[in-house]
Amino acid sequence: MNSTNLATNNNLNILLDKANASPITPLRIKDWQQIIKWEVDGEAFYWESDGIQLKNISPAKPGFVLKCSKDTLERIVQGKLPFFIGLWGTNDIAFEGSFSDAYRLGYVFLSDNRKRRVIFISHCWLNINTRFPEGCSFEGANTPLIKTLLDSGLGIIQMPCPEYQCLGLEKYRYGEIVHEELRACFRRSAQLVLNQIKDYRELGFTIVGILGMNPSPSCGVGISKGKGTMLGTDRDTSEKQESGIFIEELQKLLTAEGISDINIFGVRRLMIGESGLEERIEYLKSQINV
Ligand code: SF4
Repeated sequence: MNSTNLATNNNLNILLDKANASPITPLRIKDWQQIIKWEVDGEAFYWESDGIQLKNISPAKPGFVLKCSKDTLERIVQGKLPFFIGLWGTNDIAFEGSFSDAYRLGYVFLSDNRKRRVIFISHCWLNINTRFPEGCSFEGANTPLIKTLLDSGLGIIQMPCPEYQCLGLEKYRYGEIVHEELRACFRRSAQLVLNQIKDYRELGFTIVGILGMNPSPSCGVGISKGKGTMLGTDRDTSEKQESGIFIEELQKLLTAEGISDINIFGVRRLMIGESGLEERIEYLKSQINV
């Protein structure tokens, strides 16, 4: 190998080592077997993904080919050109093969700002329009709470509003769908959330928590109000020390999956004329470690 090829080889090894040093790489390339050929100013180098790591191999028939100049490779190694930008945005890297494989490598060499920390929140923290009549003290979202989450660098995942899904946007079916039929409907919304939780966990994301809305009969955590009126079992609208129906169903699904390490907590809603916003925000911060 001459000295220029040696430099290219070194640069490719730097990329390879960096990818393999990331604890997320085995999660990202799990089940991905592929032979990758780099053509750098016409010189060929070969990698293989064995589903666990990337490694150098002898020449073999590639399933994915990358072509670039030595200068481009140097800029990628130095962090001056993000790999996927070179591949997708500037065309400094040409490729032959599937978009799927291009994306796979784009994430393996990811260098952007995402923190990979997310929180699941009850729908109406972000969209108060699904709240019950007279239940909104904000115009569109609970702005201070959402701003606190945004400022903390979290990705916000808005859970479906189970009452909207099962009773209608303005809940005209309240009291019509009850008992096990209502629970089954709420469980379907909870299943969507569980699926997302599993997706994020499989790729190593940190799920900072699941934020419910107290004392909702659906989304309350450890406290709920009027749950019997929704289930059709009684007409008691007092607060009880138990979670809402949606949170109960979600917890059951999580338990069935063996997931017990997610912080599920509630913050009390703010009604018109109520005080205590600062305390609620401080409690939220304590739960998300801000
Ligand atoms: S069901 Fe949950 S998300 Fe929907 S309005 Fe009630 S508290 Fe909010």
